[in-house]
Amino acid sequence: MHRIASGGLHSTYSLGDLRITSLRDGYVDMPLRRLRQPGNKPFGDELKDQIPLFDGQLRLSVNAFAIDDGSAITLIDTGASNAWHPTMGRLPEALVEAGIEAERVRTVMFTHTHLDHIHGLVLADGREAFPRMTRLLVPEQELDLFRAVARLERFHGKAESFEAGERLETHVEAIGAHGHEVGHSCFRVSSSGERLLVWGDTVHVPSLQFYRPELTWEFDEDQDQARESRLRLLALASDDDYFIAGAHLDSPGVGRVARSNGSFRFEPL
Ligand SMILES: [Zn+2]
Repeated sequence: MHRIASGGLHSTYSLGDLRITSLRDGYVDMPLRRLRQPGNKPFGDELKDQIPLFDGQLRLSVNAFAIDDGSAITLIDTGASNAWHPTMGRLPEALVEAGIEAERVRTVMFTHTHLDHIHGLVLADGREAFPRMTRLLVPEQELDLFRAVARLERFHGKAESFEAGERLETHVEAIGAHGHEVGHSCFRVSSSGERLLVWGDTVHVPSLQFYRPELTWEFDEDQDQARESRLRLLALASDDDYFIAGAHLDSPGVGRVARSNGSFRFEPL
């Protein structure tokens, strides 16, 4: 996998015969207390000098990923559109910058149904973002959560569920990574011997959770299960030589995982 183009809102890579593009929807700032020690304990001030903060807050990049097989685009997650903070919602601009026409997006897959991943189906002006989308894939455990989102009502009938282990496309397979949300999933993308794990919200705070993967996130639906999934995916990525792409790793959020001093480290590409 290597980078072939980039700009302020996108980076495009080759992966075997595929093109993978990281698309920057924006960022969201969160208080340090969202990070949790085992037992759901928030931190005090002890992390303040150890990790980068912006006005005292953690800054999480919000990324989506496009897979181009030469004939159509599959999009993994869609950003927040105008449904959350105005620091997000730049996915349409990122697509233009990357030279990806929205009409070429035929399939959208969600890692999970939190608002910074799903609302990009609808533009800020209310139009459909991907007018030629034919498949919308949602983790089976979260289909009801998706169908409870009023802003996306027009897609409730179109959504299809998928299960962990299912092959979703020639190059894409789902891997269960439950915990952050009940159906949280990763996607294994493979082509010509190269493999990428698009791992959604496995890590929220890259400056900390690679070397301290036991730390969880206040919004993890099941913190113990989220921790277990993160450890399993970090081991898989490092030991089986995957590239990884993360929704909240600093944009573009693509790289490798290496084992380091009994823990892990992220090596951005
Ligand atoms: Zn998220």
